[in-house]
Amino acid sequence: MPNKNISRARFINNKLLGRKRDVEEKTCIEEDIREIRPLTMQLSTETTQDRQEVVEVCEDLYHLLKHEDIHLLKEFHRMYLDYSFTNNLPPQLKALDASQPWLLYWIGNSLRLMNPKWLSKNYQQGISEKLLNASVNGGPFCGGLGQLPHLICNYAAVTALALCDNYDDCWSKINVHGIYQWLLALKMPNGGFKTCLEVGECDTRGTYCALSVAAMLNILTPELCTGVEEFLIKCQTYEGGFGGCPQEDEAHGGYTYCAVASLAILGRLEVINVGSLMEWCSARQFNEERGFSGRSNKLVDGCYSYWVGGTAAILEAYGYGECIDKPMLRDYILKCCQTKERPGLRDKPGKSPDFYHTNYVMLGLSITEHNFKVQGSVNSIKCAPIKESAEIVPINPVFGLPSEDLEKFVRFYSH
Ligand SMILES: [Zn+2]
Repeated sequence: MPNKNISRARFINNKLLGRKRDVEEKTCIEEDIREIRPLTMQLSTETTQDRQEVVEVCEDLYHLLKHEDIHLLKEFHRMYLDYSFTNNLPPQLKALDASQPWLLYWIGNSLRLMNPKWLSKNYQQGISEKLLNASVNGGPFCGGLGQLPHLICNYAAVTALALCDNYDDCWSKINVHGIYQWLLALKMPNGGFKTCLEVGECDTRGTYCALSVAAMLNILTPELCTGVEEFLIKCQTYEGGFGGCPQEDEAHGGYTYCAVASLAILGRLEVINVGSLMEWCSARQFNEERGFSGRSNKLVDGCYSYWVGGTAAILEAYGYGECIDKPMLRDYILKCCQTKERPGLRDKPGKSPDFYHTNYVMLGLSITEHNFKVQGSVNSIKCAPIKESAEIVPINPVFGLPSEDLEKFVRFYSH
């Protein structure tokens, strides 16, 4: 009879993740206990082979760049981002037709993270007009013209507008009351939020998108927060990280960030098992690749520099100490996520750069350059530079925005 752990692994693998390949089971009798390590090292699966390939390509890069003092190639990446504001995007980006606010946030934020002046007034005008024209009455926001309001796009739209420095008084045009009523209507009996009024999933991601917008727009009422803490507590898994839903789920970097940032907004980090969360974050960083994976037995990926790195930065800000190796992460970002051949930042060597990874890898780079400490409220997390010259501006790790923009935006709605 299979033991409980194998049944659990099988359930997660086959039922939850829908994978067709079965879990490989190796058992050993008690006398062989000393042999367990060699046994696991002998085990070769598609997963271990894929990882070995990534380890080799990363090690080659570290060897090649051993004596080079690598920096972020800012002007080079700027070209990639500027191009998108002045040219049509390639046809394959049609797939992101329902994610237009995301493109604006990723591109606008990346420029702003490298140099505040690079997100020009022209770009701020373009971002704010596009978002306000696509959604009726200033929100709740949708993914594109003629689409339904959606919680995830609403978050991206509000965050992108926060980058616009109130261009043409665009912040007054956000329908704060309408967004609040809509968020209340999205609340589910289990404390989470569904993504759409008509139909939509309910998970930690949507919960973060609701709470962060509410915190920024000063509409985080007790009514809106009822049951959210209990919902999030149930999403922490036996591994220490968080899954998307309260039922049995796999701990994942993105969901973990969303749950932890939400708890920081609620001021309730102490209600979870912080020790096991920190162990899980630490276990996501590999010695060989130096960057993070998003889940157990998955490959390293640059965007988790922020999803896991941001989680660690929030815990650091709230006095729980550091659980990641920032210089190692910095190495992965600068040596494996960027090349001199193509502008923009990428997931890992061999992958193409994209706007999503450019933004989250840059946010991760900022985490390697600063120490974080909360000052009074979640809106005010101070960043002390570790090095004399930081390449990225200070960020607020709860909101994924430059600290300066976030504080100005929040102040606008604070009275
Ligand atoms: Zn990624």
